[in-house]
Amino acid sequence: MKQWIDKLRQERTLRPEELRQLLTGCDAETLRYINKQAQEVALRHFGNKIYIRGLIEVSNCCRNNCYYCGIRKGNPNIERYRLSQESILDCCRQGYESGFRTFVLQGGEDTALTDERIEMTVARIRQNYPDCAITLSLGEKSREAYERFFRAGANRYLLRHETYNESHYRQLHPAEMSGKQRLQCLADLKDIGYQTGTGIMVGSPGQTVEHIIEDIRFIEKLRPEMIGIGPFLPHHDTPFAQYPSGTVERTLLLLSIFRLMHPSALIPATTALATLAPDGRERGILAGANVVMPNLSPREERKKYELYNDKASLGAESAEGLDALQKQLNAIGYEISTERGDFKCNP
Ligand code: SAM
Repeated sequence: MKQWIDKLRQERTLRPEELRQLLTGCDAETLRYINKQAQEVALRHFGNKIYIRGLIEVSNCCRNNCYYCGIRKGNPNIERYRLSQESILDCCRQGYESGFRTFVLQGGEDTALTDERIEMTVARIRQNYPDCAITLSLGEKSREAYERFFRAGANRYLLRHETYNESHYRQLHPAEMSGKQRLQCLADLKDIGYQTGTGIMVGSPGQTVEHIIEDIRFIEKLRPEMIGIGPFLPHHDTPFAQYPSGTVERTLLLLSIFRLMHPSALIPATTALATLAPDGRERGILAGANVVMPNLSPREERKKYELYNDKASLGAESAEGLDALQKQLNAIGYEISTERGDFKCNP
């Protein structure tokens, strides 16, 4: 197995059959080895610095009904909220004071958050914080809308493709949603000039090794600047409530595969990984991740943005817990970086 890992580090690609062997035959020792290789590559590109992004969950209203997601339209058991523009700016102000230089506005596809309203919010953040990066993660929009947000000052956009395989996409989403449309959005975002992020949930219901190989090859072609890889975790009020979580091991394996294939990519140790295992964030970093996204949302709304059971939003997962995060990172030899942390293509 080590020969595939060495080849991956050197050539940044593997043939499907080689990937299949790695994905199906990865034991504890192989995992340790690939995690170490990926950590070395991340250290070479970013040093021991971890970029922080302030996550602002702007709305839990959503027109979509993704089977896995706790804020899906069909969940009657959550209290819906939408942050006002003032409240979003207040989050940015608090975040800026704590040292954040990237704000991530994430939310459901909330029809009340019109393109105009998003554009205005972006423009105000841009005006108040000219030195900060603005990342959006607001789902599928028209190309024209993405262009408007970009012109208003947004720099980055996160849109996980979730799965490249069409029939798997159908298993995860109702018929009115389209995997093709999502891929078109990603092509538009890249073309407009956003630093673009995509990714998958690891262990989502119905996911096979063949699907993962398709995802790896799609990401290899797209060459996104950011790659979001976290475990699927069930939410009690969704059709997938009874499905098991993705595993820590497979998530760490994929984080390392992506780090070896995309040495300069910005790859977070996700909240989902930190929710799945108490040391998930650290293990993600030791497997090649170089970003964490503490929660900057108003505390009273955080519980309502419950994508999956027991989603972490306090302690080191929160903006007010930066000291705790710093300590956790120091303990494994890393430090928080308060730089903006844009994508840089290091050879
Ligand atoms: N609506 C936007 C979108 O679709 O990209 C952004 C919000 S969406 C809730 C953000 C991400 O949460 C999704 O891309 C999905 O991968 C992740 N997510 C949703 N439900 C999840 C679950 N049960 N387990 C793990 N991740 C989940």
